[in-house]
Amino acid sequence: MKILTTDPAREPRKIFYKRAVVDLKSGAVTYEDVPCRNLEDVLGGFGRSFQDLAARHITRAYCDENPLIVNTGLLTGSRAMTGMRTYFSGYSPIKAPQKGAPTAIWSAASGKFGAKFKWTGLDELVFENRAEKPVYVVIREGRSGPLVEIKSAEHLRGLFTHDKIMRLQKEYADAHFAAIGPAGENWEEVLMGAIACSTENQLRSGEDKSRFAGRGGMGSLMGYKNVLALVAQSKDKLAAPSDEVKRVNLNVIKGGGSLRLQPVNRGGGGGTWGAYDVMQPFHAVPVNNFRPQGNDLPEKLFRENVEKDYHIKSEACFRCGITCHNNIHERNADGSAGRFLAKFDYEPLNLLGTNLGIHDAGQAAALIHLCDNFGMDAISLGVTLSYLLSYNARHPEKPLLNGATFGDFPKIKELVERTGRGQYPEIGQGSMRLAQSTGEPAYAYQVKGLELAAYQPETNPGYAWAIAGGHMSMGTYGMLIREGKTDLDSWVQAITDDKLQIVGFDMIGLCKFFDIAKGIGTEMVRTCLRSEHGLEVSAADLRTAVRRAFLRGLVLELRQGYTREEYTLPAEMFDDPNPHLKVPRIGTREFFQELSERVWAVFEEELDEFLQEVGAAE
Ligand code: SF4
Repeated sequence: MKILTTDPAREPRKIFYKRAVVDLKSGAVTYEDVPCRNLEDVLGGFGRSFQDLAARHITRAYCDENPLIVNTGLLTGSRAMTGMRTYFSGYSPIKAPQKGAPTAIWSAASGKFGAKFKWTGLDELVFENRAEKPVYVVIREGRSGPLVEIKSAEHLRGLFTHDKIMRLQKEYADAHFAAIGPAGENWEEVLMGAIACSTENQLRSGEDKSRFAGRGGMGSLMGYKNVLALVAQSKDKLAAPSDEVKRVNLNVIKGGGSLRLQPVNRGGGGGTWGAYDVMQPFHAVPVNNFRPQGNDLPEKLFRENVEKDYHIKSEACFRCGITCHNNIHERNADGSAGRFLAKFDYEPLNLLGTNLGIHDAGQAAALIHLCDNFGMDAISLGVTLSYLLSYNARHPEKPLLNGATFGDFPKIKELVERTGRGQYPEIGQGSMRLAQSTGEPAYAYQVKGLELAAYQPETNPGYAWAIAGGHMSMGTYGMLIREGKTDLDSWVQAITDDKLQIVGFDMIGLCKFFDIAKGIGTEMVRTCLRSEHGLEVSAADLRTAVRRAFLRGLVLELRQGYTREEYTLPAEMFDDPNPHLKVPRIGTREFFQELSERVWAVFEEELDEFLQEVGAAE
């Protein structure tokens, strides 16, 4: 970024980001310093890419006019803790209205690829058209700025995500990598392809410990473009943090927001995995396609139980003190770590474990490992699988595919492998389309075509308005269980104001755990912007920019053909309430109807302006 002002909210045009546009058809690369239009452009991530996507009218995800935009946020590669994020944006192959065009989406990954990318001097890379043959793309720092080069990827074809990264690591020293797997290469049959971003730990240990940009099928779009991997090669550019940033980083670790994500030995809940312990007392851990049975089966995947048989290590991305993920290894006879099996984050563990009727840690690890290596979104894959298993359980006389039902590990494993290879497009296309083909949509746990994360919709009506999938873009998932909120006023306020602020982290380059409750409009973020970039931004301006970006996302959905009726939750939740869920019942049609009217009444006042902006007013 070239920054010629201290006031990005009022003088955004005095800030320039470095963009490279790669025409994959001709091989031409153009570089420009682009002046920012507004604070969203300055912050980056989806706040910027959605403005560019809004300028395009895309009716099919797999077309040359649909770009893949790779960018970072203003604090990616900075000294602010968690400043690791890379964002991949485009029109999604998987998220679409029932009858309509694909929807703009982004997905985000941690790991170290984003920081390396930033340190090459590039802020954004836009892929136009598609390459005729498989390629990978190298971004490196040249003498007078970043350089982007296209290379043949014949040798990478068909390799798992991790194997592609390992192969490239041999060729590129001091680099980090983003790669798709076979699923993304089979983009026609698999719409839920993810992008793996390498971590320090992975490159050091040789174990497949990538972080993933999973939501929305950006790996499939990358596969369509015939780009199999990205390499970001640059020196690390991190000086010691200023005293102010040091204090902020300490506060992120100790200040409460991330405490429950800290490792158990530091007094935390043990990473995202800890959500099992929080939700099981309410029988709210999804089991067998989101139908908890009121028993203690989920406890088999509690950390304390898994620990009896496996070696567990809490680990973090580069320089992050939050340490939110857990890596599971076999345990050697002396208690030390044996073969690496998989990482246990809450969503993959639940959606590829308990929610499929799999309660054995080794089996769950095998499914996560396969999903990661084929390069699929664990949420979309897990939920589509659980729908299929549920369908088969309800139709034993005419089951689909290999006839798998809950808990049948060998058959579920086969489903995962064959989906990743493009042999089961029924699963690869996601749960909305699968449910359309069976004619039984009520128990497909998706909203607006994107599968729900591992939180019961009964506990979270806010999911209906999330623009990039449940928990990534609407932080309402703890409102009932953690905060005990059951009144309409609180829910309207949360959905239309406070809890949409979580999405700001997908603009600025930080993980949501930086301050999950408050979004980016905080003193901590302001301090980092001042210290890292000399920028003065008020908390109010930050909140306004996040809100504008969110509303733009909502308008982009409406433009692509969503009806108001699609802003809803799975019908089973309303019509066949689960008696085992021990939470106050706000998931009634009446509650939701009233909520919906009040939410739209608030948003509508502001949507007109954005309809004009994205050219949807006519
Ligand atoms: S919060 Fe978790 S995902 Fe984010 S940088 Fe830290 S360890 Fe990585």
